[in-house]
Amino acid sequence: QAAIEIRDLVKEYAGSKGTGPKLALKGVSFDVPQGSVFGLLGPNGAGKSTLINIMAGLVNKTSGTVKIWGHDIDHDHRNAKLNIGIVPQEIVFDPFFTPFEVLENQGGFYGISKALRRSEELLKAVRLEDKRNAYARTLSGGMKRRLLIAKAMVHSPPILVLDEPTAGVDVELRKQLWELVGELNAEGVTVVLTTHYLEEAEELCEQIAIINHGELIANKPTRELVGMM
Ligand code: ADP
Ligand code: ADP
Repeated sequence: QAAIEIRDLVKEYAGSKGTGPKLALKGVSFDVPQGSVFGLLGPNGAGKSTLINIMAGLVNKTSGTVKIWGHDIDHDHRNAKLNIGIVPQEIVFDPFFTPFEVLENQGGFYGISKALRRSEELLKAVRLEDKRNAYARTLSGGMKRRLLIAKAMVHSPPILVLDEPTAGVDVELRKQLWELVGELNAEGVTVVLTTHYLEEAEELCEQIAIINHGELIANKPTRELVGMM
């Protein structure tokens, strides 16, 4: 069974002053296989963020269907929230919260009782146990990115979605983030990530869908795709 099934997905943003409506997705269909690392590759403005924000239930679609584990997100609004952890591109923490507090609050948001929260375990998984009680504003960019991943995993979602996880990071941190994604996938998490680096998609993903101007122009196992380029 597919983890996520997307059919004929269309998204039109209403225009604002001076701009007409924008067709950001023009009828996109694909499946994210269970247990895979799936890459959405494309240039800026292609529609990648729109696509994953719709999957995660953060943006409304115009038409088409999205199913998570076979359940239509239109029929079950909690579906996306429970099944997907999303790592946004922008880093958004209260600067005076500590990593431990960030994770505890997120656990509270999901209604997970204190006894069942896994904040310590998650800090360890992203190698931030030493920074447990530091203010978030004092963390390096790489530490913040790792904390974002831990935050997305608080409710143990089976699917993790990352929006440009390594945009603007240095080579060493990119390797660390790749490793972390690999470890989570090895534990059974299905991963969907967007990227505009072919190298990143090649390194991490078993399957790559290429999106451009709101259209899917390829969707293949990585080894086949790389052979074509
Ligand atoms: P709000 O609609 O609350 O002002 P935004 O600041 O996100 O929120 O949007 C301001 C305007 O800019 C909106 O009309 C929106 O459609 C447009 N807009 C927002 N994000 C983008 C984007 N990434 N690309 C193009 N236009 C955008
Ligand atoms: P990508 O993630 O591939 O860079 P996006 O999904 O952010 O692409 O954007 C796809 C298209 O939709 C772009 O043309 C962008 O300007 C437009 N867009 C994105 N968000 C909004 C918005 N809130 N309002 C209007 N247009 C938007």
